[in-house]
Amino acid sequence: MLSTAEADRLLATLHQVGRVETVPLAQAAGRCLAQNVLADRDGPPYHRVAMDGYAVDASENLGTWIVRGLQMAGKPPQERKGPATAFEVSTGAVLPGGCDAVVRYEDTKRTGDTVYLKPGILLPLPGSHVHHQGTDYHKGDQLLASGLILRSPHLHSLASAGTDPVSVVSRPRWALAATGDELVEVRDQPLGWQIRRSNAAAILGEATAWGLRPDTETVLPDNGESLKEGLEQLLPGLEVLVLTGGVSAGRLDLVPEVLTQMGAQTLFHKIDQRPGKPLWCGQLGSTVLFGLPGNPVSSLFVFRRYVLPWLLACEGRPLAETRVRVQGLKPPTGHQTVFLPWSREHGVLDWKGSGDFLALADSDGFIEVDAEPRSLSEPRVHQWGGYW
Ligand code: AMP
Ligand code: MG
Repeated sequence: MLSTAEADRLLATLHQVGRVETVPLAQAAGRCLAQNVLADRDGPPYHRVAMDGYAVDASENLGTWIVRGLQMAGKPPQERKGPATAFEVSTGAVLPGGCDAVVRYEDTKRTGDTVYLKPGILLPLPGSHVHHQGTDYHKGDQLLASGLILRSPHLHSLASAGTDPVSVVSRPRWALAATGDELVEVRDQPLGWQIRRSNAAAILGEATAWGLRPDTETVLPDNGESLKEGLEQLLPGLEVLVLTGGVSAGRLDLVPEVLTQMGAQTLFHKIDQRPGKPLWCGQLGSTVLFGLPGNPVSSLFVFRRYVLPWLLACEGRPLAETRVRVQGLKPPTGHQTVFLPWSREHGVLDWKGSGDFLALADSDGFIEVDAEPRSLSEPRVHQWGGYW
């Protein structure tokens, strides 16, 4: 049976980065930048007053000045009104012509129009509290490079360079479809033999935590003909379809069979792992298909372990491998790769198998204990996404 590493390698052959779209600057955080961003002006674009106070000519070596004029932020620059004069200035203003330093309010006393340094305060030096034009970057400099994942500080650069909208790598257009005749909607009252469907809620929650909301979320029946009809309606225009349920060995686990009949090529079916062994992956035309096992823990684990990193990679946001130290981990039985619920505080958590979603309540994610040799002291960890 396929190992986890072989499945990863096969999945990597299906990466489809490249499509680019523009989004408003306000929606660009977390996206992969698909353009270089150049400065359209110097940074700062003028000699910027960096403190509220008085602009002076430090070369005069004075400690007392007559205040002549006000240069506030957002106003065109003015010229100094003669020797021994100061301009009252605000942070963000253009330094008035003829001045080369700023004295902070808190270092001065003022009587009428006369301002002087408090006792013990040194005379200003040229450049004091002035953020000179072009000290940070020059017009034409590259501020941000294509391929960068945009975080809040980068948005300063984009905004300052007038970049709105922003070119980013497109997110895959994907849909989530649950299968199972036993499933009813969350708000419905199940009959004794039915359950409320919860896989979609959990997977959608995880995907959304990483900024990857599906375009569509639906349910398909277990009956072969109706399943095929449902798939035919759902597939057009989709880049990725994630199904849950119907990929195991049961009589009505028809997902791989129906998709193959429709012309899908199987990339792999079954991975030597638990939970999540029945995972199926294939391709129909240009649509990539994932058939996740229906058990609640299995579906969430394999979504987080395989599908989410794959979707992120398609969007230019590959996930780095992270590992965590775990104390006293006993070798799991068997030879498969094993995923175990894990919390930062308590380490590996007890659980009763792949239907036991409640056991995940305290988890921060799950660890991956490799098949031989077992990675017992520092296994990989797959953490749940944070919410933002
Ligand atoms: P399957 O993979 O279709 O054989 O389903 C395995 C188990 O997971 C069964 O007990 C199903 O009832 C359950 N299951 C399947 N789909 C869902 C779902 N969307 N939400 C909750 N449980 C599910
Ligand atoms: Mg089923």
